[in-house]
Amino acid sequence: MKYYSLNNKEHHSNFENAVVRGLAPDKGLYFPEWIPQLSTEFISNLKKLDPAEIGKHVISPFVGNEIPEAELQKILEETLSFDFPVKAIKPDVSVLELFHGPTLAFKDVGARFMAGSLGYFIQKGNLGKVTVLVATSGDTGGAVANGFLGVDGIDVVILYPKGKVSDIQEKQLTTLGQNIQAIEVDGTFDDCQGMVKKAFLDNEIIDRRQLTSANSINLARWLPQMFYYFLAYRQLETNNKIAFSVPSGNFGNICAGLLAKKIGLPIDTFVAANNANDTITRFMESQNYQAKQSVQTISNAMDVGDPSNFVRILELFGNHFKDLKQHLMAMSYTDSETNTAIRSVYEEHNYLMDPHGAVGYLGLKDFLKINPEYSGVFLETAHPVKFLETVEKASGAKVVMPDSIAGILDKKKKSFQLSTFAELKEFLLEVD
Ligand SMILES: *Cc1c(COP(=O)(O)O)cnc(C)c1O
Repeated sequence: MKYYSLNNKEHHSNFENAVVRGLAPDKGLYFPEWIPQLSTEFISNLKKLDPAEIGKHVISPFVGNEIPEAELQKILEETLSFDFPVKAIKPDVSVLELFHGPTLAFKDVGARFMAGSLGYFIQKGNLGKVTVLVATSGDTGGAVANGFLGVDGIDVVILYPKGKVSDIQEKQLTTLGQNIQAIEVDGTFDDCQGMVKKAFLDNEIIDRRQLTSANSINLARWLPQMFYYFLAYRQLETNNKIAFSVPSGNFGNICAGLLAKKIGLPIDTFVAANNANDTITRFMESQNYQAKQSVQTISNAMDVGDPSNFVRILELFGNHFKDLKQHLMAMSYTDSETNTAIRSVYEEHNYLMDPHGAVGYLGLKDFLKINPEYSGVFLETAHPVKFLETVEKASGAKVVMPDSIAGILDKKKKSFQLSTFAELKEFLLEVD
């Protein structure tokens, strides 16, 4: 498979180069040159295959022969080594739990696949040492830190805003050690992101270190998200048309769902469920794309005012708005609606949602009101314990701490504190 830049279709790249670079040199997102088609036989056999086999079938056309089959198999076994259960909440409403990975958020899958792919390309020998530099508002950092931990030839430097991530999220970033360094920035997430962008443009830094990003626009984080939809689909027992509601921020996850549909998975409709950051909800009504400054909400991993992956969605539908509108619906919800949903689903169905999953639930509920002939699945993208205070306050319930997380809270935090780009630069130039 070759990929082109969405800013310039004449610029082509193979998979390896696109994964190592993240973005094309013209800052465009990479997009596959053609859309593979899976056989109907594969789809009807999904139940019989194990997750790594499904993953291999789905991702192979995109990776081509750039990663040998045995190596790809190993990466996929590591990536998909936990459960992806679908649970019925009520008739025709199910939840797909994506939080059974090591950092309790769905980003584990993309981060682990990217670490495996990049690790392979480095170990093959023509890349040299690479530094993954990434800014996080919470979940990305933990998933990336965990995914890349101990991978030879890769140093990871993660910037996070001091005092603005949850306790658990901070521990997940700052207690691993080895090749992972956490930098606590006296500022906001936007400041962290700004510093990372500046570092990528700084000649002294890039002369000294080969930088790459691990954010959600990277192909190796985007593409493996298709797996969730295959792994969920095979658990569904229905003859109805199927809709998936995806709590969306940067629109990487839902874009992977739409790609899964395009390559042959029979999902009829997607609902993009948003919080108050409603750029796409407004776009789907007006066909007029107007990014805006992000606002802070209780589903903070979705506080994105200008979702990067949306251009990929437009490209998937050949920029035909009418076509897109037949398969994608977008809805936005306030924090107060989200809190109410957490409480009512807990009281009526004894199921505890995190704020992101709750937004997904609301999207599905409203979709099914207008389309009662469908069966729906909403994605639960993080474990409620990651948003402990909000969830306990909204539901009145006590969140049970999973064993995997209990241990981390006693570990000692190690971070490097700074507040300016000059300090970050010094750090990157000095530390080896
Ligand atoms: C990142 C994240 C999202 C948003 O996913 P996108 O792919 O950016 O749309 C939703 N929920 C949680 C918990 C997340 O961490």
